[in-house]
Amino acid sequence: MDERVKELLEKAKLTATAAAEMAAETGTRLVGRTRQSLKVFDLNNEIELLMREIGRAVYLTHTGVETDEEELQAKLAAIDEKYAAIAAIKAEQEARRTAQTCPVCGKPCDKTDLYCRVCGEKLQ
Ligand SMILES: [Zn+2]
Repeated sequence: MDERVKELLEKAKLTATAAAEMAAETGTRLVGRTRQSLKVFDLNNEIELLMREIGRAVYLTHTGVETDEEELQAKLAAIDEKYAAIAAIKAEQEARRTAQTCPVCGKPCDKTDLYCRVCGEKLQ
């Protein structure tokens, strides 16, 4: 058999074994990721609600109804906080996703990747 083919099959076998070993761990991690995605979903919904309330207040101001400036500022601040929380979750997800870089081609790889997805180089 061609040496390169043999090497490739060996890599595939190693990857399959590692994948099986990591299945349980991955399951646990996926639960965490789903929870984070749900958190982002909730935060976006809360932001939409606040935006709607602010929009209503702006319209009421237009019609001559007095706006509670403090309440408006509090809602704007709450939106800032929720956007910051979303950014933090996204940054954490991104950091986890690109936890290592291929030493050969320089592409970002998952922390759990054994081989580069681009060039096939062994990682770690
Ligand atoms: Zn690579």
